[in-house]
Amino acid sequence: MAGEPQADCLFCKMVTKEIPATVVRETETTLAFRDINPQAPTHVLVIPKAHHPNAAALAAAEPQLMADILREAGEVAAGDGIDGTGYRVVFNTGAGAGQTVFHVHAHVLGGRGLNWPPG
Ligand code: 5GP
Ligand code: ZN
Repeated sequence: MAGEPQADCLFCKMVTKEIPATVVRETETTLAFRDINPQAPTHVLVIPKAHHPNAAALAAAEPQLMADILREAGEVAAGDGIDGTGYRVVFNTGAGAGQTVFHVHAHVLGGRGLNWPPG
């Protein structure tokens, strides 16, 4: 069922702390932790604690939870001091776009120049 924990999901295991993570923020509904393979000085993943496969599915099922993710992305940026210089929030959606973990996550990237278009 939508939102239920998935036994084989890496990020559900982050939520239960079965797999350790460097947590930077936690709320009742969200978790933010540093990416294990950072692509920028700040590279934090913000996830809902509930399992949804991608951004579109989350927005359709629980729009307030999507709003929570976006608010937390802003809080992460402020916490790392990159809200003034600029940062990027990315949801890779589908394998063709580089999604490898099918528990929705916002990448929060910043702390260096970010090219546009991203390629
Ligand atoms: P995607 O490619 O699905 O958009 O992003 C998945 C992200 O999860 C990647 O940036 C990858 O480095 C990160 N990741 C994969 N496994 C782990 C892990 O065990 N711990 C952490 N902190 N990040 C991970
Ligand atoms: Zn999950």
